[in-house]
Amino acid sequence: MDSTFDVIIVGGGAAGIGAARRLAAHGSSTLLLEASSRLGGRAHTQDLGGYPLDLGCEWLHSGDRNAWVGIAEASGFPVNRGEPPWSKAHPGSTQDEDAQEVAQGAFGDWEERLRTVAANSDRASDALEPGGTWNAYVRAIAGFMSGVAPEQISAADYLTYDDASTGWNWHLPLGYGTLVAASLPSSTALRLATPAERIDLTADGVAVTTRAGTVRAGAAILTVSTAVLAGDAIRLPSHVDPWREAAAALPLGRNEKIFLEIGRDAAFEPDSHAYGNLRDPRAAAYSIRPNGWPVIEAFLGGEGARILEEEGPAAGFAFVLAELAALFGTDVASAIRPLAATGWSRMASIGGAYSCALPGRSQARARLAQPYEDRLFFAGEATHPFDFTTAHGAHDSGQRAADEAVSALRDSRRRGLAGGPPASSPVRRRSA
Ligand SMILES: Cc1cc2nc3c(=O)[nH]c(=O)nc-3n(C[C@H](O)[C@H](O)[C@H](O)COP(=O)(O)OP(=O)(O)OC[C@H]3O[C@@H](n4cnc5c(N)ncnc54)[C@H](O)[C@@H]3O)c2cc1C
Repeated sequence: MDSTFDVIIVGGGAAGIGAARRLAAHGSSTLLLEASSRLGGRAHTQDLGGYPLDLGCEWLHSGDRNAWVGIAEASGFPVNRGEPPWSKAHPGSTQDEDAQEVAQGAFGDWEERLRTVAANSDRASDALEPGGTWNAYVRAIAGFMSGVAPEQISAADYLTYDDASTGWNWHLPLGYGTLVAASLPSSTALRLATPAERIDLTADGVAVTTRAGTVRAGAAILTVSTAVLAGDAIRLPSHVDPWREAAAALPLGRNEKIFLEIGRDAAFEPDSHAYGNLRDPRAAAYSIRPNGWPVIEAFLGGEGARILEEEGPAAGFAFVLAELAALFGTDVASAIRPLAATGWSRMASIGGAYSCALPGRSQARARLAQPYEDRLFFAGEATHPFDFTTAHGAHDSGQRAADEAVSALRDSRRRGLAGGPPASSPVRRRSA
C-alpha cells in the first residue's frame, strides 16, 4: 500500500463517514483507514435474538436538526418520530412514583445550580446539595449524560450541550449503527482492520504508516476518540502534543448497555420504561420491549457502567437482574435471560463512551478542533462546539474538517507549495 490520495481519513465512525461524504461531494480522492473489522465505531447495530439492537448510539438526539435524519430518509431508512420510551413509565412496578418525581425535581435543581458553578469552580459536584437526599439519583443521571461522576464534569461544558439540544429524540428501527455503516460513499477507498500506526508530515502533505505499508496524501483527518488520541497507539509528530493534551482534557466517560431477552409468556408493557433504585448511584434505566420486541435494554452510566468494566458481564447481569427483581418481583428472574453486554471502555480502539470536559477545561474542544499546519485536521464527537457526545455532532465535525482540508489543499495548490496535480485531479486517484 503506497498510494497518493487527496485526503486520508483515520477512523470510520460517524465523523469519518461524515468527512468521507463531504470529500466525495467535493470530488476529492479519499482513503479511509479503520482499525477494526467493521465500520461505524461507536455506532454499532448487532442482531441480537433476531432484533437489530444498538450497542452504542441509538437516539437521533435533536432530531429536528440531526443530519442523520436526512441521510436516513434519502436512503430509505425509516425514522420513528414517536415519543421515546422514557416518557412512558412501565405500569405496575414497585417504583415509588412520588419519590421519583421529587428526585427528578432535585436533578432539575442541580442543573440550575450548575449555572452559578460554571462561573466559579466549574466543578459540577459543587452544585450538589451537601448531604442532599437525592444526590445518588443526581449522580446516576449525570452518569447517563456524561459517563463520569460530577467531580469530573465541567459545568460549563455540560450546559453548553444542554442549552443547544432541541429535546427531540427520534429513533431508527433498523439501527443507528446500520445507517452509519451503510453511509460511506462508494467512491471512498476503504481499508478495514488497518490501524494507522504512525503519521508523519512530508514536504507536500502526510504519510500514514500501517502494517500494510505507508500511504500518502495532501492531508489527513483524524477522527479517533479522545482516549485513542491521548494514548500512544498512533505515533504523531511532537508538534501535535497540544492536541493530545486537549484530548486528555476531554476524557471518555463510561456508558454501557446490557440486553436481556424476555420469555414468551412474560407480560411486559411495550415501549415503556423503568428506572432502578432511586438511592443507588449505579442504578440503570430500562427500556422495555422497544419497538414491541421481547427485549429489555439496560443503560448504565458512570458508577453503574464501572461494574461491567471492572467486574465483567456476569456482575453486570447480576446487578440488573437484582434491580428488575426489586421492580417487578422475584419471578422476573425466570422470565428473562441475558443476551449481551457491551464493553466500550475495554475496547482499545475506542476506550469509553463519549467525551466530557474536565472542570475548567471546556475550551479544550475548540483547541482540539484546530487544524495543524493545514495538513492535519481533527474531527470526532469531542470536537463539536455543542453537539459533542453524539453521532450527529461527530458527523458534522467530519464535514467541517473535510471542508477545512479541501480549502487548505486548494490554497496550498494556489500558492504552489503542494506541487503536483490539482487536488481533485484523476491523476491522483489511485486505489489503495
Ligand atoms: C453506550 C453508548 C450510547 C450512546 N448513545 C448515543 C445516542 O443515543 N445518540 C447519539 O447521538 N450518540 C450516542 N452515543 C455517542 C455516539 O455513539 C458517539 O458520539 C459517536 O458515534 C462518535 O463517533 P466518532 O466518529 O466521533 O468516533 P468513533 O465512533 O469512536 O469512531 C472512531 C473510529 O476510529 C477507529 N480507530 C481507532 N484507532 C484507530 C487507528 N489507529 N486507525 C484507524 N482507525 C482507528 C475506531 O475503531 C472507530 O471506528 C452513545 C455512545 C455509547 C458508547
